[in-house]
Amino acid sequence: MARIDLDHIRHSYLPHPKREENFALKEVHHSWEDGGAYALLGPSGCGKTTLLNIISGLLIPTEGRILFDGKDVTTLAPEARNIAQVFQFPVVYDTMSVFDNLAFPLRNRGMRPAEVTKKVTEIMEMLELAEMAKRKASGLTADMKQKISLGRGLVRSDVNAILFDEPLTVIDPHMKWQLRSQLKLLHDRFAHTMVYVTHDQTEALTFADTVVVMYEGEIVQIGTPEELFERPRHTFVGYFIGSPGMNVMPVKLDGASARIGEQTIALADAPSPKPGARTELGIRPEYVRLGTEGMPVSITKVEDVGRRKIVHAALDGSDIAVIVGEHDPIPGDPHISFEPAGINIYADDWAIVSGA
Ligand code: ATP
Repeated sequence: MARIDLDHIRHSYLPHPKREENFALKEVHHSWEDGGAYALLGPSGCGKTTLLNIISGLLIPTEGRILFDGKDVTTLAPEARNIAQVFQFPVVYDTMSVFDNLAFPLRNRGMRPAEVTKKVTEIMEMLELAEMAKRKASGLTADMKQKISLGRGLVRSDVNAILFDEPLTVIDPHMKWQLRSQLKLLHDRFAHTMVYVTHDQTEALTFADTVVVMYEGEIVQIGTPEELFERPRHTFVGYFIGSPGMNVMPVKLDGASARIGEQTIALADAPSPKPGARTELGIRPEYVRLGTEGMPVSITKVEDVGRRKIVHAALDGSDIAVIVGEHDPIPGDPHISFEPAGINIYADDWAIVSGA
């Protein structure tokens, strides 16, 4: 396994004269530690696959370098990088048995038969494939074939890293949940450097110790699931993570207070944004209280989502989502208040004050 350094990577698919500022990756400078479990999370088109292909060698970046354990591999061919990759759709040999599919990468490297059997059996047991070891892959469902692809990605212990590109897309929802936890166990057991690309926050947060959030070709935050939830550094992280995402509303800053229309909210610090910056307050629905004190609001919608309700309150033109219990009453004269610990202040989308 290896540490992977991404050194000021930029990539444009356009040739030089047309390139200007049209970069699919604007600036990626970041390291993946040896043995870490990372998720690369972001919406469609933010550059996740571009970055993965640069790591695996399918693309050479327009600018910047990639280092494996300090060695520059930027222009090295994919087959020379020793990376295992699992794609969205299964890649299996249909005419081979499940066992032989998993054994193939090991036999290819000349591993002794007894060792092959030991390693393949271990992986099959962890992925619950052992019962179908002798069955031909051709007769299996897409779910099962994808499990085999995952097994093939995981079976070699000499790879520099294992890259997963949205590997659970074809898996049915029940098995998705099971496979996510199996992948996590496999990581904890073998300590491979794993990078898991997804646009699904649940997959990212359950798999990874560290989540790298990408937006419009840039990394906007790297953190633990808790950090991303509690302290979104960029408004996009606030919207994208959480259900519903963070409330964001325009504010005027005045010393250590923020003004929303007629209302004044005390802040932990006096922020000093750049002159002319767009300033906003972000607060997650979990930190908004609905009651009879605080800022007067009108309720525009109540959504019943099982054990809780999402109440939408209008405050000076902003829609504020509040989470309440399924049996909590909605007051006749509704007011909301913000828990100081949940208040974040943003200038041009970047956090300048977090919490109380
Ligand atoms: P998805 O989740 O939809 O796969 P992504 O986050 O992986 O999206 P990329 O596929 O890396 O994003 O795309 C990043 C940007 O680069 C997008 O604007 C996309 O249109 C563009 N792009 C990707 N591949 C090419 C290509 N071969 N030629 C030109 N532009 C491309």
